[in-house]
Amino acid sequence: MYVKLNKWINFGDLSLKSTTMELPIAESWKIKMVEHIRTSTREEREQWIKDAHYNLFQLPADQVYIDCLTDSGTGAMSDRQWAALMMGDESYAGSRSFYELKDVITRLTGFEYVIPTHQGRAAENVLFSHLVKEGDIVPGNSHFDTTKGHIESRKATALDCTIDEAKNTQLELPFKGNVDIAKLEKALAENGDKVAFIVVTVTNNTAGGQPVSMENLKEVRRVADKYGKRVILDSARFAENAYFIKTREEGYADKTIKEIAREMFSYADGMTMSAKKDGIVNMGGFIATRHEDWYEGAKKYCIPFEGYLTYGGMNGRDMAALAVGLDENTEFDNLDTRIRQVQYLASRLDEFGIPYQRPVGGHAIFVDAGLVLTKVPKEEFPAQTLAIELYKEAGVRGCEIGYILADRDPVTRENRFGGMDLLRLCIARRVYTNNHMDVIAVALKNVFDRRESITHGYKIVWETELMRHFTVQLEPIQ
Ligand SMILES: *Cc1c(COP(=O)(O)O)cnc(C)c1O
Repeated sequence: MYVKLNKWINFGDLSLKSTTMELPIAESWKIKMVEHIRTSTREEREQWIKDAHYNLFQLPADQVYIDCLTDSGTGAMSDRQWAALMMGDESYAGSRSFYELKDVITRLTGFEYVIPTHQGRAAENVLFSHLVKEGDIVPGNSHFDTTKGHIESRKATALDCTIDEAKNTQLELPFKGNVDIAKLEKALAENGDKVAFIVVTVTNNTAGGQPVSMENLKEVRRVADKYGKRVILDSARFAENAYFIKTREEGYADKTIKEIAREMFSYADGMTMSAKKDGIVNMGGFIATRHEDWYEGAKKYCIPFEGYLTYGGMNGRDMAALAVGLDENTEFDNLDTRIRQVQYLASRLDEFGIPYQRPVGGHAIFVDAGLVLTKVPKEEFPAQTLAIELYKEAGVRGCEIGYILADRDPVTRENRFGGMDLLRLCIARRVYTNNHMDVIAVALKNVFDRRESITHGYKIVWETELMRHFTVQLEPIQ
């Protein structure tokens, strides 16, 4: 259990009992620079969300009070990172900042070959251009949507081998992001010749930021070796995954995050990285591998797609800031502050009885909208309705991960209501305090308390064929 940071201590009671209290654990940083955020009135927000056609992506950020749309590229850099920016070397070829970044990555992962890219999907594009061919199969645990896109656009198949338990939102498991080894082995036994590589996403973003255990990574390695296959870690949140291994898996409590990360990568052949997550930079990514043949293959695509090999889409200063971010965010106290904040918000939702995907993951809370807005028919998009209600209530912007995001069936053109309908609230790294978490929690409670009176949702009046959630236009159903 963790200590609630926002309760005022009643010193009157304390003196009566004269017990020594356990000290609360506060943030591992203090604030040196602040950015003003603006509150607004419900009337303003009602007008703004109407102007945005009830699509939260269409809101100008100035109309948002607390932004939980994503944790990607929204983190706050440290003073050391800002200082590193000033020291960046902008040489076209052989930038010193590249070598600094490469050194940090090699130390953390053991991977000798590094190619910077402008973000995570670009790392996938470059490496998969070399590795994935038509007809291939890429098994893994819930591929992230851009990962899946880069596999499917090459007419290959992304085969989801996540454990079945991940689908049950109320089941509490320490490593709900794991690969189902039996499913993986079956895929390799039946279609081994078609498997290009195995991809393990740490933490498993699509399953709700759920971690993968070291035990599971070892097992994936064992099966991969048996069939002569290689393993890629989709590593956007590898440091958060290492934190969960340290705090939940037997035998790791006394290891440092850096030691754990190094062991995680020892079971892999390479990685793609979105540095916008655990690198705590606003833009950036990279590929790293231990294999020269992968490096040589990827090089050919880096130059035309991203840029020369020692910058690959990043500024020198951004590589310098990333080198520091990776080093800082593989220290326990930084991760502890972050994960505790997400867990703090979850504990407030527990207090109010608001159902979310359990246990809470590393970077976000996924509220189960179907269990909240039970009166809103699924054809009227309950999770989107909940997202709009939360925005109107307090200016908090979340993101629908549900029936709108699921797009239509490509053949029947019907909406797909088979999956989950969730409201995702991402927490940016080092940006908000627990008072902001309280605002989010209480705003959700207020909506939750009047859930019975919310009986209608929204209808789509304009949409694109693919990835409609970014631009969809909606109207309320009266
Ligand atoms: C964000 C993310 C990506 C893609 O990275 P971008 O930097 O957004 O291009 C890939 N995989 C996972 C698991 C991610 O979370």
